[in-house]
Amino acid sequence: MAIFFDNNSTTPLNTIVLEAMMPYLSEFYANPSSIHTAGRKVREAIDVAREQVADLIQAHPSQVIFTSGGTEANNLAIKGAIYGMELDSIAVSPIEHPSVIDVVRSLQKQFSVQELDVNSSGQVSTDSVVKFVENNRNFLISVMLANNETGCIQPVSAIAEMARSSAGFMHTDAVQAVGKMDVNFEKLGVHLMTLSSHKIYGPKGAGALIYDKAIDIAPLIFGGGQEKKLRSGTENVAAIVGFGKAAELAKEKLKESYTYLLSLRARLETQLKDIPGIVLFGGKAERLPNTTFFSLKGIDGEALLMQLDIQGIEVASGSACGSNNLQPSHVLEAMGIEETIAKGAIRVSFGLQNTPQEVDELIDFLKKFTNISTSH
Ligand code: PLP
Repeated sequence: MAIFFDNNSTTPLNTIVLEAMMPYLSEFYANPSSIHTAGRKVREAIDVAREQVADLIQAHPSQVIFTSGGTEANNLAIKGAIYGMELDSIAVSPIEHPSVIDVVRSLQKQFSVQELDVNSSGQVSTDSVVKFVENNRNFLISVMLANNETGCIQPVSAIAEMARSSAGFMHTDAVQAVGKMDVNFEKLGVHLMTLSSHKIYGPKGAGALIYDKAIDIAPLIFGGGQEKKLRSGTENVAAIVGFGKAAELAKEKLKESYTYLLSLRARLETQLKDIPGIVLFGGKAERLPNTTFFSLKGIDGEALLMQLDIQGIEVASGSACGSNNLQPSHVLEAMGIEETIAKGAIRVSFGLQNTPQEVDELIDFLKKFTNISTSH
């Protein structure tokens, strides 16, 4: 069995989640919009999932809009808010996932768009937010809660406070943060928050946009009026049920998961220090407990990734979604990392199924690969 260290790209489906989904792929097939008994039973399952997802981030179930995943929720958050409230300008961090940054860039011709600064530790500069807020009215700011490549946690509540004090709106992509750290919708003070099921051991193809009901969102998809007319289309019932179960389990196990993931990361990073030429990205910032993003000076990241793959160790060389183009990571570029070092980047992201022995296997291989004796 290969060792899967690419859990920020996706996580394995929890077997308890799979069991919860199965009846909705067979016996309970009715359309949740149908008024008959079978339809109502399926509707109830969606309502339970809505409560479970809301509970994970301490929102009210009525604030949850189910979508086909994080990508759709990000598109809905940005376009929905901009069109729904007739906003004038958008500020976005350059380290966002493409499902945020590319949406914002696509709106550049119609709206004023500002990209915020990022420091060398991988965090969005609040000074650049201050400047934006001073010079704009009627705006949306989108900054992710934790970055998918570096794991760096962003100053979202401080930015949300600035946005609110100028009557602006704030969206955060919390896809990587939930299940790995405590995330509280109210406390963060954001108006919109994106979640995705398959990053928390749920199925692919389900996600949610959480919204503050004081705001107006324009739908992107029109049709049968599902999800309070904000996302039409017959619901992906089994995936939504699985997302709900995954959210419930994530909440139950949050403290335990955090401690376990952090122990794996500490084991890796302590041993990585023995390898010459190591550069740890975002090491000075507060990070997700499961993510280590690094380069070995003079070693090409793609070549190392292939060698690790041959050994049965699966890692990423940068953003998973961009991994079929060989451009250096846009996140490292925004952090001002030199291109030769950025091209060596390898991301290890742990999941709850990983073990300390697997971490040691990776270290053994890296030591061999860099010609260092394992006697350290
Ligand atoms: N946002 C972030 C930060 C991500 O890491 C990802 C997936 O990699 C997404 C959004 C997209 O989520 P989904 O795969 O559910 O569309």
